[in-house]
Amino acid sequence: MYRKIELVLLILLLIGLAAVSRHLEKQTLSEKVDTKEKVVVVDCGHGGDDPGKVGINDVLEKDINLQIGKRVKKKLEKKGYEVIMTREKDETLAEKSSSNKKIQDMKARVAMINETAPSIAISIHQNSYQGESVHGAQIFYYSHSTDGEEAAKIMQEAFLSADPDNTRQAKANDTYYLLKRTEVPTIIVECGFLSNRKEAELLAGEEYQKKVAKAIVSGVEKYLSSKTIGK
Ligand SMILES: [Zn+2]
Repeated sequence: MYRKIELVLLILLLIGLAAVSRHLEKQTLSEKVDTKEKVVVVDCGHGGDDPGKVGINDVLEKDINLQIGKRVKKKLEKKGYEVIMTREKDETLAEKSSSNKKIQDMKARVAMINETAPSIAISIHQNSYQGESVHGAQIFYYSHSTDGEEAAKIMQEAFLSADPDNTRQAKANDTYYLLKRTEVPTIIVECGFLSNRKEAELLAGEEYQKKVAKAIVSGVEKYLSSKTIGK
């Protein structure tokens, strides 16, 4: 008698396990499809004739931006995201003959972001200040974008994994061209200060760049998953 009950229970258990594993399989599949649909634009600031900020250690902002941007792209693609870069080499997006290269370059970046219509656009920059003591990553968002604000706050927090002592807060801005003219949530990620010797050295090195890229990717993931849950 006992045997029979045991056998029935065992069969029921096996049926249950099979159902659970089928459910899990389905869930991972749908998650993969979900991230596949996510497009992210990575905009590496400056390039070509425009070096951006020049570091206290002579590193150029345009180079650091591109190095970090490429690391971010690689990591996001590994996770199944589609990544569009506004530039993949040391170049300006303006034409050579242009009379105002800076404006044309910015317009081209904005056009690319708006045409691609990504879930989020990340513009990578490095900061600089007169005093050497100022340091720490800071994220900027457009004052009139609630999604931008949410993304910036999430990204600012994600940066604590790279630099746990950073006390800077995400900051609103309503004058930056890129923030004003893009039609999707866009944030400017100032990864650190090239005017601070320690931070400039860190930002130029592989180890810290990897940490920064990891922080950016985790910020993107957290922001996008908060959007999916909200839908
Ligand atoms: Zn810059």
